[in-house]
Amino acid sequence: MATATPLTANALNRQLPQMTTSGMAPAQQLIMPDKDMVLDEDNPFEAMISRFDFAAEQLNLDPGLYRILRHPDKQIIVSIPVLRDSGEIEVFTGYRVLYNSSRGPAKGGIRFDLAVTLDEVKALAAWMTWKCALVNIPFGGSKGGVVCDPPTLSTGELERLTRRYTAQIIEVLGPESDVPAPDVNTNERVMAWIMDTYSMHKRHTVTSVVTGKPIEMGGSRGRRQATGRGCMIVAREAMQAQGIAIDNARIAVQGFGNVGSVAATLLAELGCRIVAISDKSCALYNANGIDVDDALDWVRNHRYLSGYPAADQYTNEELLTTECDVLLPAALEHVITSRNAANVRARIIVEGANGPTTANADKILDDMGVFVVPDILANAGGVTVSYFEWVQDRGGYFWDLETVNGRLEKIMVDSFREVTTMSEQHGVNLRIASYMLAIERVAAVHRLRGLYA
Ligand code: NAD
Repeated sequence: MATATPLTANALNRQLPQMTTSGMAPAQQLIMPDKDMVLDEDNPFEAMISRFDFAAEQLNLDPGLYRILRHPDKQIIVSIPVLRDSGEIEVFTGYRVLYNSSRGPAKGGIRFDLAVTLDEVKALAAWMTWKCALVNIPFGGSKGGVVCDPPTLSTGELERLTRRYTAQIIEVLGPESDVPAPDVNTNERVMAWIMDTYSMHKRHTVTSVVTGKPIEMGGSRGRRQATGRGCMIVAREAMQAQGIAIDNARIAVQGFGNVGSVAATLLAELGCRIVAISDKSCALYNANGIDVDDALDWVRNHRYLSGYPAADQYTNEELLTTECDVLLPAALEHVITSRNAANVRARIIVEGANGPTTANADKILDDMGVFVVPDILANAGGVTVSYFEWVQDRGGYFWDLETVNGRLEKIMVDSFREVTTMSEQHGVNLRIASYMLAIERVAAVHRLRGLYA
């Protein structure tokens, strides 16, 4: 940890109304400029900020740094005109938020979804900042999104949308400044279009401007499986830490896409029993265990899990409250809330998705003694291998799968142990311990760099 003198509260600090935090000595009081906003359990940025505030308080973070780290560096909103196949022009809205770049280039995915909002993109960009710092890779955090409904777009429309969005935010993109990756409804194909558009503007090929690319054009081996593999590693570590036998441990997985299906496959390979899986069509339960490969084959042939014969169909809500050893939410944000947290019957939750648990649900789960491995740790395998991809592209030298997986394993295990140690030392849950470690690492760099102008 850095020993440089902390930034002191600046003049701005003195101009803003000082809100008090009950129970804290005046010197420790933190300023919460937007706390008069109505807190909404379903607002992702509020979900991030409430954990951030608590962790910052535990760290006794200097008020000036607290203010810096509570705000995104840059928020970009763009209009994206797209020529539809019908000949009409439609205009879509896109966002790119660079939350913090103090530790290195901003890093964060791009999602195409009708539910994208600026607050969601801000929250996801902040989580990327904490996630990269937590696993100690030299990146800041960012995120992007376009409000659109991909299934209603043809491939040509999707390509034009992607290329125009890339052109609209090109000033911030670059291997040294901001590096996108796939997220909800974007994939290797979309990354290839972004890389090509950026390279055309730069007049030379720049592979390291995006990660999650096809292997043929500079992608990394193991990237596609990396997030699910990371979830498997922390689930295994969590079971060991909680004294749960891995062999035959009961696992319930919400979401059977990239993260959920890979995690389920790898956990089954470890000897666990996958008792429940789900996607947006339905949830499935089989107390004797679901054959994950067989279910994947079914999805390949039928698109969704619905109708899969070797399990009972039930609902996603029932899946979340299934009796199991490990619950792995790997689909959406805000699925475990104050409304259902008390019904959760898992001993461990491993958050594959970003933000699946609300701050109000945290308290309930804590009281129940559920061991929650938070998203910024549990799903950090993806950005870790994205970092490996960026390193390989810049070095022009590519690693074999064994090297990628071995280095991922080490980073995930080391990070898990650092978080559990922090949690024990400070008497806080793993989520707050993760935020504390991450915030302190970002804060340390700010102290060393100082405030420019
Ligand atoms: P994906 O699109 O491949 O899979 C999502 C899955 O969730 C699909 O099976 C879908 O049917 C299911 N789903 C959607 N709505 C649902 C609902 N209402 N109920 C139950 N299931 C539903 O996406 P992914 O890449 O696996 O990402 C899943 C989550 O993990 C997201 O929160 C994403 O931000 C997060 N994440 C992904 C990565 C990555 O590398 N892919 C990295 C970090 C975090």
